[in-house]
Parts: sequence; structure tokens; C-alpha cells
Amino acid sequence: MPSSVMPTPRKGDGRQSPAAVSAVRLRKAYGDKTVLDGIDLAVPAGTVFALLGPNGAGKTTAVKILSTLITADGGQAHVAGHDLAANPQAARAAIGVTGQFSAVDGLITGEENMFLMADLHHLPKREGRRVAAELLERFDLTEAAKKPASTYSGGMKRRLDIAMTLVGSPQIIFLDEPTTGLDPRARHNMWQIIRELVSDGVTVFLTTQYLDEADELADRIAVLNDGRIAAEGSAEELKRLIPGGHVRLRFSDPTAYQSAASTLREATRDDEALALQIPSDGSQRELRSILDRLDSAGIEADELTVHTPDLDDVFFALTTAGTPDKTKEDVR
Ligand code: ADP
Repeated sequence: MPSSVMPTPRKGDGRQSPAAVSAVRLRKAYGDKTVLDGIDLAVPAGTVFALLGPNGAGKTTAVKILSTLITADGGQAHVAGHDLAANPQAARAAIGVTGQFSAVDGLITGEENMFLMADLHHLPKREGRRVAAELLERFDLTEAAKKPASTYSGGMKRRLDIAMTLVGSPQIIFLDEPTTGLDPRARHNMWQIIRELVSDGVTVFLTTQYLDEADELADRIAVLNDGRIAAEGSAEELKRLIPGGHVRLRFSDPTAYQSAASTLREATRDDEALALQIPSDGSQRELRSILDRLDSAGIEADELTVHTPDLDDVFFALTTAGTPDKTKEDVR
């Protein structure tokens, strides 16, 4: 299995964007359990980066290190240009963190939570109130602003958490599993919020267990497995890392099936289903060539399906989390 695709800048004007977050050989162990076994990361400024991995892979540990909540045992990391070992305060001033260790206090109202953040950031009182009102409005929390945060739904709490983070105008936001436990509507709402953050120029470093979330949001994805980066690249690059693209032809007539099998010798046979599987990238050119060969032999397939590897396939190929769902075939 190829191990890694080197990061390249996304918004291509040919210039390399500066890394907002970078890490080299980052290590962390708890007792004799190695959680991060020397990971390298590079997140260009103004992009969304997803650290994708199954439960217990070390995602939260990575976020805690990069957001200065805990220190690494080895390796170097830079956040917003600051060396975490030498100048953690400067890094901390440039970032916001939300997620599993949420800062929301349930006993006070949403608005009071916001004021507290404004005080922490030493905003003058009037300015603090203005910023709080603006952010509550932006995250659709004005109506609930005077209610205790403990009465908020999961989605509202996450929105308040992000609003609180934005009081400090961070350049980089770490979102640890931002949609775990949210219902589908709240989840899509959160995705929209993340896209808006990025269009405002914020760099987003998120962790997720969800492949569709990484595919949907991230410019670059690193798959974390067993304390190591198993692969890194854009969703498209990751999908190209693994084989598995194929065309499947199914026949109802055994004679047609036999002739097709002798015409397409590279195919894998499934004699029971009268189906042939041909390795293919699913491109128009390859499809045409397969169909042309069948045509010249006077054979017609009853069904043709194209399977292109998706992030699920990549994830399952790279991690030990289980087996892929084989039901996702595109019928063309
Ligand atoms: P993820 O966020 O990917 O689910 P974590 O970073 O939370 O993974 O945890 C990775 C591993 O490190 C887990 O096996 C977890 O039990 C262990 N771990 C995390 N924090 C601690 C800690 N403070 N003490 C001991 N073990 C820990």
C-alpha cells in the first residue's frame, strides 16, 4: 500500500501557501501505550484539513498537542508560524479550539458565555457586547441568547462553542469531531458554518470519524491509524491510491457469458452469477473499449455497472476498522 502523498497547495496560483499548522515526527505515549508514533502534517493556510481515523486512533491527542493543551514527547510542531515548544503563548493567541472539551458553561446563558469570552480577550465592555450580539445573530442564537446553555440542543451548543471561539478572531480553528452526535440537519448546518469560516480566510483543522464529512469539507485528508499517518492527500488522490475500480458485466444467457469470458480474458469470472469483473478506471475510453470488444464478438451484456473506489474503500484498505460496504455500485 502506498504510504503517503506529499501535500501540495490547493488554490493554485503556483505559489506555495504558508503552512498554518505543521508537524514533524510528532510523538506521544501514555505509559507504554504509544498514541502518536511520529506523525508529519502540513496544513496550508486558508484550507480545511481533516484528520480522519477510527475511534482511539489518536485524533484528539493530536489536536490537544497542536492546540497547546498538552505537550508532545517528541517531534516539532509549528502553529501560525510559532514553534509550539518555544512559544506556545503566541500559537495559542492565533487559534481557537472547540470540540469534545467544549468551553460552554451550561449554568449561564448563551449570551453570558459570550460575554465571558469577550472579557477573557480583554475586549472593552461595549465592544464585547457588540461582538457577542453579532456572533449570536450569525449563528442563529439570538432568540435563545438569554436561556441557560444547558437547555440548548446539541447543534445549538456546538454553534455557541464556535461563536465563543470566534470572539478571539482566531486565524486557525481546531474542531474536534464537530458533528459527532448531531442529527442530519444540524450536521449540514455545521458543514455550512465550516465552509463560511474558510471563506472568511480561517484555516480549519478538523477531526472526524466520518468519511463523507472529510470528503465533503476537506481540501486535504490525513488518515490516522494506529498512531501513524497511513495516507495523506486530497480525497481524489486518496481514492487513486487504492486499486479496486472495476466494471462488472452480468449476463442472463450462459452461452453469452461463456463467449464474453473468452473474449475478455483479463476478467475475473463469477460463474454462479454469470458475471465478469474487469479492472478499470471507469473512464469513457475504457468502457468503450470493453463494449467494442463485446460488440465485435456479437455479445450483449444484460447489465453493466461501474465501481470506482470511494473514501470508504480507502479508509478500510488503510485502517483495520472493518470491511467496506460493497453495495455502493454505480449503475450506468
Ligand atoms: P481519538 O480522538 O482518535 O478517538 P484519542 O486521541 O482520544 O483518540 O485517544 C487515543 C488513545 O490514547 C486511546 O487509546 C486513548 O485511550 C489513549 N489516551 C488518550 N488520552 C489518554 C490519557 N490522558 N491517558 C492515557 N491514555 C490516553
